[in-house]
Amino acid sequence: SNCLEFAKPFLAPETKVSEGVEKAKVPLNILLVGAGLGGLSTAIALTQSGHTVTVFEQTPVLGEVGAGIQVPSNSTKILFKLGLKPYLKPYVTEPESISFRRWQTGNVIGNTKLVPDFTNNFDAPYYVIHRAHFHSALCQKVQDMGIEIKLGARVENYDPVAGSITLADGTTFTGDLVIAADGIKSVARKIVLGGEDMAFRKPGFAAYRATVDVERMRNDPEVSWLLERPALNIWYDKDKIHILRLHLIMDFYDRIGDARHVMTYTIGAGKAFNMVLSHPDATDPSTWDPTKAVDDMKAEFDGWDPVLTKIIGMVEKTLKWPLISGSVLDKWVSDKLVILGDAAHAMLPYMSQGAAMAVEDGLALSRALSKIQNTEQLGKCLSIFEQVRMQRAGQMQEASLLNSQLWHFADGPLQEARDAAMVPEVKGLPFSHSPNQWSDPATQMWCYGYDTEGAIDEAWESS
Ligand code: FAD
Repeated sequence: SNCLEFAKPFLAPETKVSEGVEKAKVPLNILLVGAGLGGLSTAIALTQSGHTVTVFEQTPVLGEVGAGIQVPSNSTKILFKLGLKPYLKPYVTEPESISFRRWQTGNVIGNTKLVPDFTNNFDAPYYVIHRAHFHSALCQKVQDMGIEIKLGARVENYDPVAGSITLADGTTFTGDLVIAADGIKSVARKIVLGGEDMAFRKPGFAAYRATVDVERMRNDPEVSWLLERPALNIWYDKDKIHILRLHLIMDFYDRIGDARHVMTYTIGAGKAFNMVLSHPDATDPSTWDPTKAVDDMKAEFDGWDPVLTKIIGMVEKTLKWPLISGSVLDKWVSDKLVILGDAAHAMLPYMSQGAAMAVEDGLALSRALSKIQNTEQLGKCLSIFEQVRMQRAGQMQEASLLNSQLWHFADGPLQEARDAAMVPEVKGLPFSHSPNQWSDPATQMWCYGYDTEGAIDEAWESS
């Protein structure tokens, strides 16, 4: 909240989004586990629909760790619908464009205009924001709506048939429905899947996340130009692996080599320069030494574009995160228990859609619940939610994995074909998937123009 003191809106886009969600005919008493980005946005959507939601969060104090996060248009559109625009606006930056740059020179390979194109095409802007600001905007809205959050409330067990949860202190709560948005280490997922948790693939990537003070960058003319306009920049393609690896695309998880990229953008309404530095690392995170993280990070990106390495040199502290891809599950629901967010569909951050999928989940569930005429229809409702969201989030999981290939081609014909295809008009690619979610119109529409409520309506009508 102290960021509100200095933060100002960077740009103030206008959108065509109408506020408000469909009202429930059968208001339910819902227990929601997890007050992360997914849990809170879901609590807001359901409360607006008329349900009574109680949130259970294990941490004693609410907060988010990490640095920046992208809020793509499909997510912003829903957040605005939920009335979050004024809560987010003081914190966000709206990048004008995204530039793809060659790793060793910084030369631009491709460029996509985000402003005004994304608001024009997908009805809502593409934002970047500090994760803590995103979370505190949601918390503020939750507080203003009077939604109850029980802190220090770790859920140890679930009874899906009874619709009840048991906390670490032994207290039991029962509701009409239990939603678990309890993240990647979900306890609920194991119960839904029946004990065997086959949730993860190991793609072998890790990312350093760091911020640099923009005032420091402004004093250095070699790097200050990056701050002239709000923009996303990706430096990519450092891959020593032979191009034939592409043919192993379904089997590449064990074969990741020297595949790196760096994503940058300003956050804190332009006050901090955010960096996500992705690189191969399949080692056990418990063996990582945080005191060496800054030096290790600098060594990982040695020899890259001098502009980039200069900024990396300004980083004073960083955290390294394992990048985990969830498998596409075949079950999200067990009786009155449903999982959503990372608990159901963890993904690599290479589509910048993990939290966005959780935000879509929340609206989709609220829409599905608004259809029921009596509690007997709850099973049908959850099954439609599961079917629709499993398909959408599963596709996003796969697309995120595919980007870990597409962003890391070795020099050669495939890389050249991909770069040519960064110009949206170029067709006839040697890929079964479009080259990039930012540059291909069809992929853009699938990714950012998705109609979350319409997909539920359609599935309900045809059921
Ligand atoms: P979480 O945020 O993990 O929240 C789970 C909550 O449940 C936590 O508060 C936890 O304390 C609580 N909890 C867990 N177990 C219990 C229990 N037993 N009892 C009570 N409470 C419990 N997504 C995007 O949309 N855009 C991006 O640009 C983006 N970039 C990313 C970059 C990186 C490097 C990474 C790693 C991820 C990125 N993501 C991005 C993904 C995004 O961060 C996640 O998808 C999102 O935060 C998941 O939210 P969630 O609410 O499902 O889970």
